[in-house]
Amino acid sequence: ARTGGGDQVAVFDPAVHAERLANAELVAQMHHAVEAGEFEVHYQPIIDLATGDVAAAEALLRWTRPDGTRIPPDRFIPLAEQGGAITTIGAWVLRQVCTDLRRLWSEHQVAVTVNVSAHQLRDPLFAAHLLSLLDTSAVPGRALIVEITETVLVTSVADAATVTAQLQQLREHGVRIAIDDFGTGYSSLAYLRELPVDILKMDGSFTAHQIDNGGTREIAFIRAILDLSRSLGLVTIAEAVETDTQAHRLRALDCNLAQGYHFAKPGPVADLHTLLHKHSRP
Ligand code: C2E
Ligand code: CA
Ligand code: CA
Ligand code: CA
Repeated sequence: ARTGGGDQVAVFDPAVHAERLANAELVAQMHHAVEAGEFEVHYQPIIDLATGDVAAAEALLRWTRPDGTRIPPDRFIPLAEQGGAITTIGAWVLRQVCTDLRRLWSEHQVAVTVNVSAHQLRDPLFAAHLLSLLDTSAVPGRALIVEITETVLVTSVADAATVTAQLQQLREHGVRIAIDDFGTGYSSLAYLRELPVDILKMDGSFTAHQIDNGGTREIAFIRAILDLSRSLGLVTIAEAVETDTQAHRLRALDCNLAQGYHFAKPGPVADLHTLLHKHSRP
């Protein structure tokens, strides 16, 4: 049996012990994994529901160990955040994204949205580094979207001020800010008010469970989120769209953009190029 993740384990629990050993091993390997080339950035297309065009793509990190084992990001990102490796890994992701963006933006005007951890934003030089990276790659700020979650504000007041200043600096250069997993946190509305934001990503739980069942109560939640987003002048992206019904209902509700297995799974940048070439063929 597992304990709830607290540190106060009074009795020796072999399962907890094994998990901690496994975690410590992953943390140790993570530090070499960047140089060893074990990470790869995959891209999931984000579709304009009105036209069916690919409007953007989300960068999603993939880690394959030398023995071929794939470690899912939900498993290693939290460990990287605890152990500090997220700074190195996050910087690598941004470099890779800027490299891939050169072609994606110049050939197809496809923007890339990238997940940025709260730890990265607490570095007061984060925005400056990112802007110089874009500059070096000759990619305009407009081509990049930074995705953050509310954890950026679950922090000290001083940190919150740093985070807000970073986001403002990025926006002044055309980089857009998206709030990820909207609707799942404790203070979604509060941080939407506090932070400079352009895009709202409605969490997949709203799409998946609620729309297919088709209950009026369920639809009311989605409609409320879309209305809020619109009245704030934001663009909405629906996540985890898995069925045709979901896509149609979202479109009927005037949701702008959507991503999910129904359209395409995340894949290597080459897959995205293949898809984009197919789309642009007359
Ligand atoms: P997220 O940012 O909410 O990303 C969306 C997740 O939903 C991705 O999982 C994606 O593969 C998955 N997904 C896409 N379409 C569907 C669908 O139709 N149905 C369902 N059920 N899921 C779908 P993934 O790639 O395993 O990433 C998990 C999480 O890891 C991400 O959640 C994000 O929080 C984090 N993550 C991934 N890459 C990075 C990164 O480069 N940096 C940071 N800081 N976090 C990352
Ligand atoms: Ca995301
Ligand atoms: Ca999300
Ligand atoms: Ca998530």
